[in-house]
Amino acid sequence: MEGLLKELARMSQTVGKRVDYIQGGGGNTSVKLDGGLIAVKASGLKLRQVTEAHGFAVVERDTLKDVTAEQGFTPLRPSVETGLHALLEGRFVLHTHPVYANAVLCSKGGALRLPDIMRGIEYITVPYRNPGSELLASVKERLRPGVRAILMENHGVAVTADSADEALRVHELINARCAESYGTTRAEFDEFYAAACKTLYPDQSAYLDLTDDRREIMAAVMFIHHTLRNNREEARAIPPESLARMANDESTKYRKTVLMGDAHTQDNCQLSIVNCQLLVSPRARALAEKNGVDASLAANTGPEGRVIERDVRDLMIKNAPAPFWVL
Ligand SMILES: [Zn+2]
Repeated sequence: MEGLLKELARMSQTVGKRVDYIQGGGGNTSVKLDGGLIAVKASGLKLRQVTEAHGFAVVERDTLKDVTAEQGFTPLRPSVETGLHALLEGRFVLHTHPVYANAVLCSKGGALRLPDIMRGIEYITVPYRNPGSELLASVKERLRPGVRAILMENHGVAVTADSADEALRVHELINARCAESYGTTRAEFDEFYAAACKTLYPDQSAYLDLTDDRREIMAAVMFIHHTLRNNREEARAIPPESLARMANDESTKYRKTVLMGDAHTQDNCQLSIVNCQLLVSPRARALAEKNGVDASLAANTGPEGRVIERDVRDLMIKNAPAPFWVL
């Protein structure tokens, strides 16, 4: 089991460090363990926070019953996409929201590019459905044996393979071909990300309240619009009725509460205060509280993916507009 979890952590961190592949707490990964179990990234956590001992939940593949605590791991809620991970046949599943593939998948004319982009890779495309049971039903309907990639309109890509390296390779190949098809590059995305990290005038700071995660999402959206415009294609928005349903969805609320670091204040949240604290060292938490900083937005360089005091201090120095802090 250790070897497989190590591979899961490596695969998760490799893509989790790429803002062009994963923004905020998006995306998820899984590995099928022996005995009919799956380790799947925990909801609300970031892919780069997954280590071989932390950041995932363990469920039974057939029933999706959560057995994380029984297996001796920190109880965290499995990703809302766990059903999708269980459904796919490869040992590893890598699901991301990459800006290159998403340019294709958020374009009204993008489907025309797919046969060339996906040459030699067995794939299916699914129309937009909200994450969770709606999306799962739609994938189930279309899935056939041998499929290695699922392209989800207005959402992202899922790749399945029997090794982490093969999943990473196919994922990289798909995105490189999407970028090439639109005549764009990673360097171009990096320019958008750098732009999204700049605050240009007071209104931006006052109205947008851009955290690091929000800047990542903003960079991705700006980049996709720019790429489509350069290629004279029109972006396709998520239908308003789907958005309305998603806003009321319990798993979306949960994900937000974990991402925003106030999970233990929400009634509908199963994450206990104890579990929440496992991710942030007491000293880091105290420093963050003293300064009104959201510790969940800090890097997590401590043992087992924990946010430590230095991470909070780095975040404050990077973000806070105040001239000094209570260190
Ligand atoms: Zn997703």
